[in-house]
Amino acid sequence: MNYVSTRGKSEPVSSAQAILQGIAGDGGLFVPTEIPKVDADFLKALTGLSYADRAKKILGLFLTDYSDEEIGRCVESAYGGGKFDDEAVAPVRSVGDVSVLELWHGPTSAFKDMALQLLPRLLSEALKKTGETKETLILVATSGDTGKAALAGFADVPQTKIMVFYPEGGVSEMQRLQMVTQAGGNVSVVAVKGNFDDAQGGVKEIFGDTAFAAKLGEAGVRLSSANSINWGRLVPQIVYYFSAYADMVKAGTIQNGAPVNFTVPTGNFGNILAGFYARQMGLPVGKLVCASNRNNVLTDFLQTGYYDRNRDFFKTISPSMDILVSSNVERMLYHMTGDPSGVRGWMEALATEGRYDAGVGMIQRFQNYFWAGWADDEKTKATIREVYETEHYVLDTHTAVAWTVAREYRRRTHDERPMVVVSTASPYKFSGSVLEALGGDATGEPFALLASLEQKSGMTAPKGLAALKDAQTLHEGSCEKEKMRDAVLAFAEK
Ligand SMILES: *Cc1c(COP(=O)(O)O)cnc(C)c1O
Repeated sequence: MNYVSTRGKSEPVSSAQAILQGIAGDGGLFVPTEIPKVDADFLKALTGLSYADRAKKILGLFLTDYSDEEIGRCVESAYGGGKFDDEAVAPVRSVGDVSVLELWHGPTSAFKDMALQLLPRLLSEALKKTGETKETLILVATSGDTGKAALAGFADVPQTKIMVFYPEGGVSEMQRLQMVTQAGGNVSVVAVKGNFDDAQGGVKEIFGDTAFAAKLGEAGVRLSSANSINWGRLVPQIVYYFSAYADMVKAGTIQNGAPVNFTVPTGNFGNILAGFYARQMGLPVGKLVCASNRNNVLTDFLQTGYYDRNRDFFKTISPSMDILVSSNVERMLYHMTGDPSGVRGWMEALATEGRYDAGVGMIQRFQNYFWAGWADDEKTKATIREVYETEHYVLDTHTAVAWTVAREYRRRTHDERPMVVVSTASPYKFSGSVLEALGGDATGEPFALLASLEQKSGMTAPKGLAALKDAQTLHEGSCEKEKMRDAVLAFAEK
């Protein structure tokens, strides 16, 4: 199976090539030329398998230029070896009248690990398969969680370097500590004076700059991406939609073949897009509910067909969703229209004017798949408190946005199909906001907050977070957003 650009002006490539490049030469994103289909027997067979074995089956359908051995090797080392603190890797829990898909049992306690434990391994295999001799420099813009997960995945991986840009003051203290303490001979972490869109915009510009790429090439370096614009980031995420479904069938929550809905706390539209792929492959998914925080550009877009990033940017208690330009919408538009020149036009308008109109005709198409809503910080905190009081289950701030919107969806539509709330972070990553929601004292240094949350929840904090207390700060650099290129070049030549 080949991969083509959403903007239609690049040659088709293999999946290994798509993963190495990260972004297509015309600035578009790689998408598969066809979406593989599965049947009820395929779904049924998954129920008896481990997460790793489920992953092998699903990845094999998309990464057709990788051998079974290669995929097997990557998957075993990503999800095996005790790196996840739950044997199920991505367990489904029944909480009240929903199922919660917990995606934060990996080494950095956020769902990004699901993909970023695997991507470096897929990329290493791709380097071997394509005979690439240059060093690959992974550039990452992060709203908090991607940065650490990518650093953890790529640290000391041969023939790679990784550089992470995060918005100064735009991530939680725990997220910042996770990043600036990252060890490894091939890593760099830089604070950008700006917000996430500035950091992501800077990285995208660097990717689009062919003269700069040539300069890096002279230094023996090529760029790639670990953001969800990279196909290798997206494809591992398809797996957990299938895995959740298989677990629910196995537990008797649903009959094989019965539809379920998923509510996804959304930022860059990567997670929910993986759910869209799963649905197109034949997983019985009813609606994909897109949950946003106050930066509700996606709610408006899915309801009106009009995308407009010219609006105030809010810092919320769910910082990993504080995004106004959701990269993966581009892939969704491609699959809905099959029209790369249309997509190109919209993305050019987005880049120059910050807005585009996909047309009212699109609204119906969106609504076949998606429902969209949003929750502000107050509602989000009220949900955390309520779910704690009624279920004794502690939600993180992102998952609480999803929970709030899931409830609103049910109230408004009377859709009774089983609902899976996709849980994207451990509450301990956002101890301050969570404690505040629970009526506790949210002032103090991050580890005191961690301890008080442990007391309240009766659950111990993930080891990786607790260990940060004694970790040394290794990265103190910051830069203006106009100076990101210089920082990249200096690191590449190091
Ligand atoms: C990244 C992230 C999100 C948003 O996911 P997208 O794939 O960007 O839509 C939501 N919650 C948490 C905790 C995250 O880290």
